[in-house]
Amino acid sequence: MKDPYEILGLEPTADIETIKKRFRELSKKFHPDKNPATQETYKEIVAAYRLLISEKAISPTNRESQKSFPTIPTERIHYNLSLANILAEGFKVSRDFSTEDYLDHFQADITVEIYKLELVLGYQIPLMIPTKQTCPVCGGHQEHCYRCQGKGYIHQTLTWHITLPPSTRPEEIVSIDLTPLKETYPTLQLKRQSLRLRCHIIDAQEI
Ligand SMILES: [Zn+2]
Repeated sequence: MKDPYEILGLEPTADIETIKKRFRELSKKFHPDKNPATQETYKEIVAAYRLLISEKAISPTNRESQKSFPTIPTERIHYNLSLANILAEGFKVSRDFSTEDYLDHFQADITVEIYKLELVLGYQIPLMIPTKQTCPVCGGHQEHCYRCQGKGYIHQTLTWHITLPPSTRPEEIVSIDLTPLKETYPTLQLKRQSLRLRCHIIDAQEI
């Protein structure tokens, strides 16, 4: 890949606001909805933008931008029955209602309402993942543990930020691999390896 700053026509010292502003200008000009011939250019611009934004966001010298990293509001994230069950049981659904049953019914665990532009700009989606974890204090081995009361596990809801591929289609159900979460929290007890997320694209209006 070419230098992302070069692709966006920016100086390497450009701050996050300048990068965003430049991206908005370029997307107006090169968006394939307006001109199919510029699709490849547009893809390159989006890739460069996402790379720069993520670099700026994780740079420890740039905490301000990390705070302002675009995230969709939690009101637009809807959890189906499955996650309530996960919260209560740690990825175990009741005896009369199997995981397959509810997935057949809902098709997805989570529905996210997102604007097309947010999708393209790589907005983060803060998922609340209810988890069951091996007790971090006693490791699940102590009868009189103050943390788990001897149960050996705890329930904890984790916030996990994900981004969807910009090419996600309306109502597409995207599989969210839970492996990276497990790598960050090795004590997680996961019955399922992935969640299904339905992407409801609200409309294509500018935000
Ligand atoms: Zn414990």
